[in-house]
Amino acid sequence: MNELLVFVCDGAPVRGEIVSISTAWQAVLERRDDPPAVRHILGDFVGAATLLSASLKFDGTLIIQAQSKGPIQLLVVECKSDLSMRATVKLSVDPSEIAPHASLGELLDAGNSGRLVITLDPSDREPGQPPYQGIVALQEQHGGVIKPVSSAAEAIGLYMQKSEQLETRIWLASNDTHIGGLLLQRMPDSGGHVHLDSQNAAEGWIRIQTLGETITNEELLTLAPETILRRLFLEESTENGVRSFPPRQIRFSCRCSRNKVADVLRMLGEEEVQGILAEQGAVETVCEFCAKPYRFDAVDCLQVFKTDLLSDATRPPSSGH
Ligand SMILES: [Zn+2]
Repeated sequence: MNELLVFVCDGAPVRGEIVSISTAWQAVLERRDDPPAVRHILGDFVGAATLLSASLKFDGTLIIQAQSKGPIQLLVVECKSDLSMRATVKLSVDPSEIAPHASLGELLDAGNSGRLVITLDPSDREPGQPPYQGIVALQEQHGGVIKPVSSAAEAIGLYMQKSEQLETRIWLASNDTHIGGLLLQRMPDSGGHVHLDSQNAAEGWIRIQTLGETITNEELLTLAPETILRRLFLEESTENGVRSFPPRQIRFSCRCSRNKVADVLRMLGEEEVQGILAEQGAVETVCEFCAKPYRFDAVDCLQVFKTDLLSDATRPPSSGH
């Protein structure tokens, strides 16, 4: 089950999404060796990335990055508009040093250094045009006291609150085999099929949120989206109408390639690469998202820089070389 279900309510200005990911999540995990507390945070952010990506009218890649000076140095989840995704984590400590139940605050907000960055990179972006990017700190002020956020759902909620016009609620759960999530978004009170007066609209939004709040982690992790929708909104569906669309599929997919690794070698420069060749006999690297190994021996490296020279020849000569 790797499905995302979108639904709309006829009696409330609400658009919702329910996601359930299993084999696509296992495909991420089997390529990695993260400690349990890190897997849990990564899983929640994978769920969030699919929910946010599906909520946007946008063709491109949504990238969630969490960065800190804590044990999790960088966490990246990428989800394309076709709901193909990949994810990685970079730790600054040995995995054995991370406690099994370490919190998001402990792992991602050491010294209030945690940041959440969400980038929308449209597929038709012109070269040189920057992608849209929003950043929030992973802390909240409570009566003058700064507290780190406690979960990925809270971090995403904070982000939405600070950057988005639409009110959004999100629930996330993950374990070693499954990810589940629910997103509720308040749509404009009128327009589309919904025409409600402001009091009915406000009441409807509260009613749907109250129903959403009854969702449990157990349900999110074990039930199909259609079942969750039926259970949670049975009465709403009977009395006011709730309609869902055909479920969308989520899959794991990595976009790494030998050509992209060759580009990285060109950026390192021929001198650096020759140094690695002299020391190790070949340049070996592993994709940080899918763990696919890449090996460039001396002949491959020669080829890499031959191509560079050819493309350089078409450019005006730069000074200093
Ligand atoms: Zn890869």
